[in-house]
Amino acid sequence: MGFLYLSTPERGRVWQAAAAQALPDLPFWQSHDDVPDPALVKYVTCWKRPHDLFETYPNIELLISVGAGADQFDLPKIPRQVRIARMITPGITQMMQDYVTLGVMALHRDLPRYVAQQSQGIWQSDPAPLARKTSVGVLGLGQLGQAALTALAPFGFQLSGWSRSQRARDGATCYAGKDGQAAFLAQQDIVVCLLPLTDDTHNILNADFFSLMKDGAKLLHVGRGAHLNQQDLIDTLDSGHLAAAMLDVTSPEPLPADHRLWSHPRVMLTPHIATSTDAEEGAACLIRILTAFIAGDAFPEEVDRTRGY
Ligand code: NAP
Repeated sequence: MGFLYLSTPERGRVWQAAAAQALPDLPFWQSHDDVPDPALVKYVTCWKRPHDLFETYPNIELLISVGAGADQFDLPKIPRQVRIARMITPGITQMMQDYVTLGVMALHRDLPRYVAQQSQGIWQSDPAPLARKTSVGVLGLGQLGQAALTALAPFGFQLSGWSRSQRARDGATCYAGKDGQAAFLAQQDIVVCLLPLTDDTHNILNADFFSLMKDGAKLLHVGRGAHLNQQDLIDTLDSGHLAAAMLDVTSPEPLPADHRLWSHPRVMLTPHIATSTDAEEGAACLIRILTAFIAGDAFPEEVDRTRGY
Protein backbone atom coordinates (compact mmCIF):
# COMPACT_ATOMS: atom_id res chain seq x y z
CA MET A 1 0.00 0.00 0.00
CA GLY A 2 1.30 3.47 -0.77
CA PHE A 3 0.77 7.22 -1.01
CA LEU A 4 -0.16 9.15 -4.14
CA TYR A 5 0.78 12.83 -4.28
CA LEU A 6 -1.04 14.98 -6.86
CA SER A 7 0.11 18.58 -6.51
CA THR A 8 3.01 20.84 -7.45
CA PRO A 9 6.37 19.08 -8.11
CA GLU A 10 8.36 21.51 -5.92
CA ARG A 11 6.26 20.71 -2.85
CA GLY A 12 6.21 17.04 -3.88
CA ARG A 13 9.99 16.76 -3.61
CA VAL A 14 9.94 18.14 -0.05
CA TRP A 15 7.03 15.92 1.00
CA GLN A 16 8.59 12.84 -0.55
CA ALA A 17 11.87 13.46 1.32
CA ALA A 18 9.98 13.95 4.61
CA ALA A 19 7.93 10.80 4.05
CA ALA A 20 11.05 8.79 3.16
CA GLN A 21 12.59 9.79 6.49
CA ALA A 22 9.53 9.40 8.74
CA LEU A 23 7.80 6.48 7.02
CA PRO A 24 10.54 4.73 5.02
CA ASP A 25 8.43 1.68 4.22
CA LEU A 26 5.63 3.71 2.63
CA PRO A 27 5.92 3.97 -1.18
CA PHE A 28 5.39 7.62 -2.29
CA TRP A 29 4.28 8.16 -5.89
CA GLN A 30 4.28 11.64 -7.43
CA SER A 31 2.07 10.96 -10.44
CA HIS A 32 -0.48 8.49 -11.79
CA ASP A 33 2.25 7.06 -14.06
CA ASP A 34 4.43 6.12 -11.08
CA VAL A 35 1.74 3.92 -9.49
CA PRO A 36 2.59 0.25 -10.16
CA ASP A 37 -0.91 -1.03 -9.38
CA PRO A 38 -3.98 1.19 -8.72
CA ALA A 39 -5.14 -1.21 -6.01
CA LEU A 40 -2.07 -0.22 -3.93
CA VAL A 41 -3.05 3.43 -3.49
CA LYS A 42 -4.30 3.89 0.08
CA TYR A 43 -3.57 7.57 0.78
CA VAL A 44 -3.96 10.51 -1.61
CA THR A 45 -3.17 14.19 -1.28
CA CYS A 46 -4.28 16.90 -3.73
CA TRP A 47 -6.15 20.24 -3.93
CA LYS A 48 -8.98 19.50 -6.38
CA ARG A 49 -9.51 15.76 -6.71
CA PRO A 50 -9.65 14.15 -10.17
CA HIS A 51 -13.36 13.36 -10.85
CA ASP A 52 -12.61 9.64 -11.35
CA LEU A 53 -10.23 9.32 -8.36
CA PHE A 54 -12.23 6.67 -6.51
CA GLU A 55 -12.99 4.63 -9.62
CA THR A 56 -9.30 4.64 -10.59
CA TYR A 57 -8.07 3.83 -7.08
CA PRO A 58 -10.72 1.70 -5.34
CA ASN A 59 -8.78 1.21 -2.07
CA ILE A 60 -8.30 4.82 -0.95
CA GLU A 61 -8.80 5.17 2.81
CA LEU A 62 -7.57 8.70 3.43
CA LEU A 63 -7.79 11.83 1.27
CA ILE A 64 -5.72 14.82 2.41
CA SER A 65 -6.20 18.37 1.17
CA VAL A 66 -2.99 20.32 0.52
CA GLY A 67 -4.77 23.41 1.89
CA ALA A 68 -6.68 24.53 4.99
CA GLY A 69 -10.12 23.64 3.57
CA ALA A 70 -11.58 20.46 2.11
CA ASP A 71 -14.82 21.78 0.57
CA GLN A 72 -13.23 21.70 -2.91
CA PHE A 73 -13.37 17.87 -2.69
CA ASP A 74 -17.19 17.96 -2.90
CA LEU A 75 -17.58 15.82 0.22
CA PRO A 76 -21.00 14.23 -0.46
CA LYS A 77 -19.57 12.57 -3.57
CA ILE A 78 -16.75 10.85 -1.67
CA PRO A 79 -17.37 7.23 -0.59
CA ARG A 80 -18.45 7.14 3.06
CA GLN A 81 -15.56 4.93 4.20
CA VAL A 82 -12.92 7.42 3.00
CA ARG A 83 -11.62 9.70 5.76
CA ILE A 84 -10.69 13.27 4.93
CA ALA A 85 -8.08 15.62 6.34
CA ARG A 86 -6.94 19.18 5.76
CA MET A 87 -3.75 21.08 6.60
CA ILE A 88 -3.41 22.95 9.87
CA THR A 89 0.00 24.61 10.04
CA PRO A 90 1.46 27.55 11.96
CA GLY A 91 2.19 29.32 8.66
CA ILE A 92 -1.39 29.09 7.39
CA THR A 93 -2.62 30.54 10.69
CA GLN A 94 0.00 33.31 10.68
CA MET A 95 -0.71 34.22 7.05
CA MET A 96 -4.44 34.43 7.78
CA GLN A 97 -3.70 36.69 10.74
CA ASP A 98 -1.62 38.91 8.42
CA TYR A 99 -4.35 39.02 5.80
CA VAL A 100 -7.25 39.68 8.17
CA THR A 101 -5.26 42.46 9.85
CA LEU A 102 -4.48 43.95 6.43
CA GLY A 103 -8.11 43.70 5.30
CA VAL A 104 -9.68 44.99 8.50
CA MET A 105 -7.25 47.92 8.56
CA ALA A 106 -7.86 48.67 4.89
CA LEU A 107 -11.62 48.76 5.48
CA HIS A 108 -11.35 50.56 8.81
CA ARG A 109 -9.28 53.34 7.19
CA ASP A 110 -11.43 53.48 4.01
CA LEU A 111 -8.69 52.31 1.65
CA PRO A 112 -11.06 51.19 -1.17
CA ARG A 113 -12.44 54.73 -1.33
CA TYR A 114 -9.01 56.39 -1.28
CA VAL A 115 -7.60 54.03 -3.92
CA ALA A 116 -10.59 54.86 -6.16
CA GLN A 117 -10.09 58.58 -5.47
CA GLN A 118 -6.40 58.34 -6.38
CA SER A 119 -7.26 56.89 -9.80
CA GLN A 120 -9.43 59.99 -10.39
CA GLY A 121 -7.01 62.54 -8.94
CA ILE A 122 -9.33 63.40 -6.04
CA TRP A 123 -7.85 64.65 -2.74
CA GLN A 124 -10.71 64.47 -0.27
CA SER A 125 -10.76 63.09 3.25
CA ASP A 126 -13.08 62.31 6.12
CA PRO A 127 -12.03 61.66 9.71
CA ALA A 128 -11.54 57.98 10.51
CA PRO A 129 -13.34 56.49 13.54
CA LEU A 130 -11.23 55.32 16.45
CA ALA A 131 -10.56 51.58 16.56
CA ARG A 132 -12.03 51.40 20.06
CA LYS A 133 -15.29 52.80 18.67
CA THR A 134 -15.31 50.29 15.81
CA SER A 135 -16.86 46.80 16.02
CA VAL A 136 -15.31 43.92 14.13
CA GLY A 137 -17.12 40.58 14.02
CA VAL A 138 -15.74 37.32 12.71
CA LEU A 139 -18.02 34.69 11.17
CA GLY A 140 -16.50 31.33 12.12
CA LEU A 141 -14.67 30.77 15.40
CA GLY A 142 -12.53 27.84 14.32
CA GLN A 143 -8.79 27.57 13.89
CA LEU A 144 -8.58 30.67 11.70
CA GLY A 145 -11.43 32.77 13.09
CA GLN A 146 -9.95 32.50 16.60
CA ALA A 147 -6.49 33.37 15.27
CA ALA A 148 -7.94 36.40 13.47
CA LEU A 149 -9.45 37.67 16.73
CA THR A 150 -6.10 37.18 18.49
CA ALA A 151 -4.36 39.24 15.80
CA LEU A 152 -6.96 42.03 15.96
CA ALA A 153 -7.03 42.31 19.76
CA PRO A 154 -4.02 44.66 20.18
CA PHE A 155 -5.63 47.33 17.97
CA GLY A 156 -8.45 47.89 20.46
CA PHE A 157 -11.46 47.09 18.25
CA GLN A 158 -14.66 45.90 19.90
CA LEU A 159 -14.51 42.23 18.90
CA SER A 160 -17.20 39.60 18.40
CA GLY A 161 -17.52 36.20 16.82
CA TRP A 162 -20.28 33.98 15.46
CA SER A 163 -20.19 30.20 15.24
CA ARG A 164 -22.50 27.20 14.93
CA SER A 165 -22.15 26.12 18.56
CA GLN A 166 -21.78 28.59 21.43
CA ARG A 167 -18.15 29.54 22.11
CA ALA A 168 -16.63 31.67 24.84
CA ARG A 169 -13.58 33.86 24.54
CA ASP A 170 -11.97 36.58 26.62
CA GLY A 171 -12.14 39.97 24.94
CA ALA A 172 -14.81 39.03 22.39
CA THR A 173 -18.58 38.70 22.56
CA CYS A 174 -19.65 35.33 21.17
CA TYR A 175 -22.90 34.65 19.30
CA ALA A 176 -24.10 31.33 17.93
CA GLY A 177 -26.43 29.80 15.41
CA LYS A 178 -29.27 31.24 13.39
CA ASP A 179 -30.80 32.69 16.58
CA GLY A 180 -27.69 34.73 17.32
CA GLN A 181 -27.05 35.93 13.77
CA ALA A 182 -29.22 39.07 13.67
CA ALA A 183 -27.95 40.35 17.04
CA PHE A 184 -24.36 39.71 15.93
CA LEU A 185 -24.74 41.44 12.56
CA ALA A 186 -26.56 44.46 13.99
CA GLN A 187 -23.46 45.29 16.07
CA GLN A 188 -20.70 45.12 13.47
CA ASP A 189 -18.96 47.87 11.50
CA ILE A 190 -16.76 45.30 9.79
CA VAL A 191 -17.74 41.65 9.24
CA VAL A 192 -15.03 39.12 8.42
CA CYS A 193 -16.12 35.82 6.85
CA LEU A 194 -13.99 32.85 7.88
CA LEU A 195 -16.63 30.14 7.58
CA PRO A 196 -16.11 26.77 5.96
CA LEU A 197 -18.22 26.10 2.86
CA THR A 198 -21.02 23.66 3.70
CA ASP A 199 -24.64 23.16 2.69
CA ASP A 200 -25.60 25.55 5.51
CA THR A 201 -23.14 28.30 4.59
CA HIS A 202 -23.43 28.14 0.79
CA ASN A 203 -24.73 31.58 -0.42
CA ILE A 204 -24.94 32.77 3.22
CA LEU A 205 -23.64 36.25 2.33
CA ASN A 206 -26.78 37.32 0.48
CA ALA A 207 -29.29 40.20 0.42
CA ASP A 208 -31.10 38.99 3.57
CA PHE A 209 -27.81 38.72 5.43
CA PHE A 210 -26.68 42.18 4.26
CA SER A 211 -30.02 43.68 5.32
CA LEU A 212 -29.21 42.63 8.90
CA MET A 213 -25.89 44.50 8.80
CA LYS A 214 -25.52 48.09 10.00
CA ASP A 215 -25.87 50.94 7.51
CA GLY A 216 -22.38 51.77 6.25
CA ALA A 217 -20.88 48.46 7.40
CA LYS A 218 -18.10 46.72 5.45
CA LEU A 219 -17.36 43.12 4.49
CA LEU A 220 -14.03 41.28 4.43
CA HIS A 221 -14.55 37.92 2.75
CA VAL A 222 -11.80 35.33 3.20
CA GLY A 223 -13.90 32.15 3.15
CA ARG A 224 -14.90 30.67 -0.18
CA GLY A 225 -16.38 32.24 -3.30
CA ALA A 226 -19.62 30.24 -3.03
CA HIS A 227 -20.42 31.80 0.37
CA LEU A 228 -21.13 35.08 -1.40
CA ASN A 229 -24.00 36.09 -3.64
CA GLN A 230 -21.94 38.50 -5.70
CA GLN A 231 -24.89 40.24 -7.37
CA ASP A 232 -26.52 40.83 -3.97
CA LEU A 233 -23.27 42.38 -2.75
CA ILE A 234 -23.05 44.68 -5.77
CA ASP A 235 -26.70 45.73 -5.34
CA THR A 236 -26.19 46.36 -1.62
CA LEU A 237 -23.06 48.44 -2.25
CA ASP A 238 -24.83 50.38 -5.01
CA SER A 239 -27.78 51.07 -2.73
CA GLY A 240 -25.34 52.63 -0.24
CA HIS A 241 -26.34 50.26 2.58
CA LEU A 242 -22.89 48.66 2.70
CA ALA A 243 -19.89 50.98 2.35
CA ALA A 244 -17.16 48.70 1.01
CA ALA A 245 -15.94 45.14 0.60
CA MET A 246 -12.63 43.38 0.28
CA LEU A 247 -12.74 39.92 -1.25
CA ASP A 248 -9.99 37.31 -1.39
CA VAL A 249 -12.28 34.70 -2.92
CA THR A 250 -14.81 34.83 -5.75
CA SER A 251 -16.86 32.46 -7.84
CA PRO A 252 -15.52 31.64 -10.33
CA GLU A 253 -11.84 32.32 -9.74
CA PRO A 254 -10.83 34.36 -11.62
CA LEU A 255 -13.97 36.35 -12.37
CA PRO A 256 -14.88 36.91 -16.03
CA ALA A 257 -13.01 39.92 -17.48
CA ASP A 258 -16.15 42.06 -17.69
CA HIS A 259 -17.41 41.30 -14.16
CA ARG A 260 -18.45 44.42 -12.26
CA LEU A 261 -16.49 43.45 -9.14
CA TRP A 262 -13.19 44.04 -10.99
CA SER A 263 -13.91 47.74 -11.32
CA HIS A 264 -16.38 48.50 -8.54
CA PRO A 265 -15.05 51.63 -6.81
CA ARG A 266 -15.81 50.30 -3.33
CA VAL A 267 -14.45 46.79 -3.78
CA MET A 268 -10.89 45.58 -3.36
CA LEU A 269 -10.04 42.15 -4.77
CA THR A 270 -7.08 39.89 -4.10
CA PRO A 271 -6.58 36.62 -6.02
CA HIS A 272 -7.09 34.04 -3.23
CA ILE A 273 -3.77 34.85 -1.59
CA ALA A 274 -4.68 34.97 2.09
CA THR A 275 -2.77 31.78 2.85
CA SER A 276 -0.64 29.19 1.15
CA THR A 277 0.90 26.02 2.53
CA ASP A 278 4.65 26.23 3.13
CA ALA A 279 6.30 23.08 1.77
CA GLU A 280 8.20 22.12 4.95
CA GLU A 281 5.30 22.90 7.30
CA GLY A 282 2.95 20.98 5.00
CA ALA A 283 5.32 18.01 5.07
CA ALA A 284 5.34 18.02 8.87
CA CYS A 285 1.53 18.18 8.92
CA LEU A 286 1.28 15.36 6.38
CA ILE A 287 3.54 13.12 8.49
CA ARG A 288 1.50 13.92 11.61
CA ILE A 289 -1.72 12.96 9.83
CA LEU A 290 -0.34 9.77 8.29
CA THR A 291 1.34 8.65 11.50
CA ALA A 292 -1.86 9.16 13.50
CA PHE A 293 -4.00 7.47 10.86
CA ILE A 294 -1.73 4.43 10.65
CA ALA A 295 -1.60 4.16 14.45
CA GLY A 296 -5.39 4.44 14.67
CA ASP A 297 -5.17 7.71 16.64
CA ALA A 298 -7.41 10.77 16.28
CA PHE A 299 -5.94 13.76 14.45
CA PRO A 300 -7.22 17.38 14.63
CA GLU A 301 -6.91 17.84 10.89
CA GLU A 302 -9.68 15.31 10.23
CA VAL A 303 -12.82 16.72 8.61
CA ASP A 304 -16.04 15.68 10.33
CA ARG A 305 -18.08 14.29 7.45
CA THR A 306 -21.37 14.79 9.30
CA ARG A 307 -20.76 18.51 9.91
CA GLY A 308 -19.07 18.99 6.54
CA TYR A 309 -16.00 20.77 7.96
P1 NAP B 1 -12.67 25.39 11.28
O1 NAP B 1 -11.59 25.28 12.28
O2 NAP B 1 -13.31 24.16 10.76
O3 NAP B 1 -13.80 26.35 11.93
C1 NAP B 1 -15.01 26.61 11.30
C2 NAP B 1 -15.83 27.58 12.14
O4 NAP B 1 -17.02 27.93 11.42
C3 NAP B 1 -16.29 26.96 13.48
O5 NAP B 1 -16.26 27.94 14.48
C4 NAP B 1 -17.73 26.57 13.17
O6 NAP B 1 -18.61 26.55 14.29
C5 NAP B 1 -18.14 27.69 12.25
N1 NAP B 1 -19.29 27.28 11.43
C6 NAP B 1 -19.39 26.22 10.58
N2 NAP B 1 -20.63 26.16 10.05
C7 NAP B 1 -21.32 27.19 10.59
C8 NAP B 1 -22.66 27.65 10.46
N3 NAP B 1 -23.55 27.03 9.66
N4 NAP B 1 -23.04 28.73 11.17
C9 NAP B 1 -22.18 29.35 12.00
N5 NAP B 1 -20.89 28.97 12.17
C10 NAP B 1 -20.48 27.91 11.48
O7 NAP B 1 -12.19 26.20 10.00
P2 NAP B 1 -10.92 27.16 9.86
O8 NAP B 1 -9.65 26.38 9.87
O9 NAP B 1 -11.06 28.27 10.85
O10 NAP B 1 -11.12 27.70 8.37
C11 NAP B 1 -12.29 28.39 8.00
C12 NAP B 1 -12.37 28.57 6.50
O11 NAP B 1 -11.48 29.58 6.06
C13 NAP B 1 -11.96 27.36 5.64
O12 NAP B 1 -12.95 26.37 5.62
C14 NAP B 1 -11.85 28.05 4.29
O13 NAP B 1 -13.14 28.18 3.70
C15 NAP B 1 -11.34 29.45 4.64
N6 NAP B 1 -9.94 29.64 4.26
C16 NAP B 1 -9.66 30.54 3.28
C17 NAP B 1 -8.34 30.75 2.90
C18 NAP B 1 -7.97 31.74 1.84
O14 NAP B 1 -6.82 31.71 1.37
N7 NAP B 1 -8.84 32.65 1.44
C19 NAP B 1 -7.32 30.03 3.52
C20 NAP B 1 -7.63 29.13 4.52
C21 NAP B 1 -8.95 28.93 4.89
P3 NAP B 1 -18.31 25.60 15.56
O15 NAP B 1 -17.23 26.31 16.32
O16 NAP B 1 -19.59 25.56 16.28
O17 NAP B 1 -17.86 24.27 15.00
